[in-house]
Amino acid sequence: MRPSACYITAEFAPYVKVGGLGDVSAALAGILHGRGHDIRPFLPLYDDLDRKGLAIEPIAPLADLEIAMGPHRYRYSVLRGRQQHGGPDLYLVDCPALYGRKGIYGNAADEHLRFLALTRIALESCQRLGFAPRIVHCHDWHTALAPLYLRTIYAWDRLFEHTRTVLTIHNLGYQGVLPWDWVEGLGLGDAARELDAGERAEGRVNLLREGLKHADSVNTVSPGYAREICTPALGMGLDAVLRGRHDSVSGILNGVDHEAWDPATDPMLPAHFEAGDLSGKARMRTALADRLGLDAPAGTPLVGMVSRLNWQKGIDLTESVLPTLLGRGTIRLAVLGNGEARYEQFFDSLARDFPGRASFTRGYSEELSHWIEAGADAFLMPSRYEPCGLNQMYSLRYGTVPIVRRTGGLADSVEHFDPASGTGTGIVFNDPDPPAVRWALDTMIDWFRSPAAWRRLQLNGMQQDFSWERSADAYEALYRRTRRHGGKSKSG
Ligand code: ADP
Repeated sequence: MRPSACYITAEFAPYVKVGGLGDVSAALAGILHGRGHDIRPFLPLYDDLDRKGLAIEPIAPLADLEIAMGPHRYRYSVLRGRQQHGGPDLYLVDCPALYGRKGIYGNAADEHLRFLALTRIALESCQRLGFAPRIVHCHDWHTALAPLYLRTIYAWDRLFEHTRTVLTIHNLGYQGVLPWDWVEGLGLGDAARELDAGERAEGRVNLLREGLKHADSVNTVSPGYAREICTPALGMGLDAVLRGRHDSVSGILNGVDHEAWDPATDPMLPAHFEAGDLSGKARMRTALADRLGLDAPAGTPLVGMVSRLNWQKGIDLTESVLPTLLGRGTIRLAVLGNGEARYEQFFDSLARDFPGRASFTRGYSEELSHWIEAGADAFLMPSRYEPCGLNQMYSLRYGTVPIVRRTGGLADSVEHFDPASGTGTGIVFNDPDPPAVRWALDTMIDWFRSPAAWRRLQLNGMQQDFSWERSADAYEALYRRTRRHGGKSKSG
């Protein structure tokens, strides 16, 4: 029988992407579709969803319906989005009351209802279409209530008799925590008694915790992060529940979309290159420096950063380090990102204080992110924690040496270089503190001055394979295990 999955996600690149969730949702669904799975991604039809490349049409049984979330009632339709460049058809939930607003995420009081409704609408759409998925795959807190919904309010439906659930954690830092007073809006009715008693005693509902407790399988996006989240240090209050079911928690490193991220063909770049000939990378370096108004002398490393700017990403660890190095003129810096005001102000001040040496582009730009990956010499990711991280893998592919902290997926994908043996792919530092960042940047500057060592480092990285094929094999195995044994690796 053809494997089938109802796949519920808040982001799906390139139509809607805030961070890695968008890339990963789309790439994984795309490759599983290519391997013959009947995979049906459900996502909101946000006002800000970019419809380019999508042919959108109604689905007769899913037009003009209503969903009740406790006292709240919403009218919605589900539309089919045919992807003109291939891939599975998308199921776009059109509900203006929930998604007809600016931005993808927000702070409005009904934020949780936007995603709880998405989750229930996806399951009710399966019912209306007579689609009995073998797997319901949910992602992060937004859709983490699907397993509990299936075990309670939809348990009566034989359609879901053989359905098993997979929850992928892309970031444990976002848990969907609500005041208990809002419990009615979850639409669980009497089944609300199944919600975690400990959270209830604290006057809360924690949506991600419910997913972790009730999903048949839980996985996260790197083996390292899967281990780390079972510890109090990075478990963010959920380590005990994760430890309690460690036999069904696994880590699968994300892959890289080689079509979108290939320096030899990247359509966003004016110059191309590959491991055998890096002259195009030198042209990209000049083009990037010109575009950003940097002087970028050949002997001085140009460091790139592309990031959401927040605590997780460790931006504050660079605050005392970058001004010193820029002041001495030993690095150039190209930053693209947005997020918390204090970090935006920090990079603004660097650009102001060090004209020609530092540039900051506030905002989101897919194109500039490709330019920075291609044109920079090194790429800095001082994350406090990093479930997987994509940019370090893009960097490796683009001959841009990653400087990363030894955490989560960064530690799984970058090996510290050893100049003596010539092995390793980047610079890996241990501690989340400014001296460690300083050490890492000084090490990079040192190695950059030795062209042979630097070239070795670049080529080692470019030879790494982070294709989605490998990750997709692991997801297929996870789906199989979940179908057969409810996700337990011991019996699988
Ligand atoms: P996270 O999901 O925590 O944001 P990841 O490294 O997993 O971190 O994924 C981030 C993705 O979003 C990468 O593809 C990165 O290039 C992209 N990205 C982040 N900020 C920006 C930005 N300001 N402009 C363009 N792309 C960005």
